Amino acid sequence: MLAAWAVAVVAVPYGWAVGRVRAYPPTGRGVALFAVDHTWSLVNTIAGAGFLTVNLARGHHLDPPRCCRRGRIDIHEQAMRGYATTLGNVIAGGTAANERHEDLHVRQARLLGPLYLPLVGLNYVLFSVLPVWWLYHDHDGYPITGPGRYFTRGVYLHVWHEAWAYRRDVRDRYGDLPVPRPGRRHPRRTRRSRGDRGHCTTDKT
Ligand SMILES: [Zn+2]
Repeated sequence: MLAAWAVAVVAVPYGWAVGRVRAYPPTGRGVALFAVDHTWSLVNTIAGAGFLTVNLARGHHLDPPRCCRRGRIDIHEQAMRGYATTLGNVIAGGTAANERHEDLHVRQARLLGPLYLPLVGLNYVLFSVLPVWWLYHDHDGYPITGPGRYFTRGVYLHVWHEAWAYRRDVRDRYGDLPVPRPGRRHPRRTRRSRGDRGHCTTDKT
């Protein structure tokens, strides 16, 4: 009974969406991505399917042009205000500006498979109760002024999968220039000029 309910509520909308947006390219790569998503990364795919169902139930819409043959499902609306959110191979609120960032989260999940969500959850818990990131946090650029900011400017920017994605974003934008990722203190503080402040971002993905 429970299995039938899960199939009806999660798997059916997901299967429909995969076909509707033509998520997987008709190539060897598409077949490989599909295979990974439904074996090694199945837990992430199920989580993403649940996320998709919740979004559709909230009246959110698929964004076929954005994700056609990209190996993922895009939802036009944001699931969380001010943030693009990725779960498994489902992205809500993605834009051209954060596409590579969110795509990296899709790839991280495929790479780590069943370990991905536990490792992300563990890091959130660890950094929430034991804020070791406080030591290398950019307190000038991203001041922690209250409990909300503790999570949105602190924990969130330093958990491993976001730190990885933001570091890549900075490399995309600045190449090999010595610019730290958002939230990370510049290693050479004494030489910092006002111009260095330009890397601060309000991107939330
Ligand atoms: Zn992110």
